[in-house]
Amino acid sequence: GDALAVSARVAPLGSRLVLLLVEDLTEARRIEAVRRDFVANVSHELKTPVGALSLLSEAVMDAAEDPEAVNRFAGRMQIEATRLTNLVQELIDLSRVQNDDPLEDSEPVRVDELVAEAIDRCRHQAGTKQITMAAGGTADLHVWGNRGQLAAALGNLVENAVNYSPARTRVGIAARHITAPGGDLIEIAVTDQGIGISEKDRERIFERFYRVDPARSRATGGTGLGLAIVKHVAASHGGEVTVWSAEGQGSTFTLRLPEAGSVRDRDRRGPRRI
Ligand code: ADP
Repeated sequence: GDALAVSARVAPLGSRLVLLLVEDLTEARRIEAVRRDFVANVSHELKTPVGALSLLSEAVMDAAEDPEAVNRFAGRMQIEATRLTNLVQELIDLSRVQNDDPLEDSEPVRVDELVAEAIDRCRHQAGTKQITMAAGGTADLHVWGNRGQLAAALGNLVENAVNYSPARTRVGIAARHITAPGGDLIEIAVTDQGIGISEKDRERIFERFYRVDPARSRATGGTGLGLAIVKHVAASHGGEVTVWSAEGQGSTFTLRLPEAGSVRDRDRRGPRRI
């Protein structure tokens, strides 16, 4: 009688344990599949410029007698080399934001400086497309975080706004302080009048290597990693990034981050959730 009672008590516990193990295995398999996909994607992305460089260098050798052709091929080699450099740099950035704890190196960061840096990074490209960039509301705002990571995140958003917009449009950056019970936030919104993003694509653009139009992304030097980096930085700072868009009209990407003054000493040790 006793043995039966015991096994009856143990049985539900046992099955729950089995269930947990199965769930664990499924999660492990999923992570493994994501890792395999990532390696396959990286290999593919590296192969394209490396293949082009190899063909172009052959073309240069064959055209040795024709200086004009040599110049043309060399120019294209430079474009492919830049593409390769961008990809490797973004891979390094991504692995850094995934592995480093941003809070170990966090400080109050001035929003006007972050915004000025992001605008500076895109000034050349915006100039050639006659895109106007304007920022507002950034004075006296401070976010709590890792300066380098925050600059990379905002820089990517502004860069995308310029890249995915037609000539003679406007990119606006607006910041504001939001009072919230869980700790005040700083919201930085980047708005463009560009091509926009469909609802279906909005769900996927934050994935590594996902691009709505791969050819267009590559043509502008895109790697497909920018928004994955932004999402990681936002999350590891206890913040978030969201997107609003109307196809053909434009998009707004909004970063919400903890406000420096509202992060008390005890909070500074770990990320908070919004
Ligand atoms: P990429 O290097 O291709 O720009 P991202 O990860 O930064 O990679 O963005 C992923 C994709 O999301 C882009 O290829 C593009 O299709 C889309 N996208 C990102 N930002 C915008 C934007 N502001 N307007 C329209 N589409 C965008």
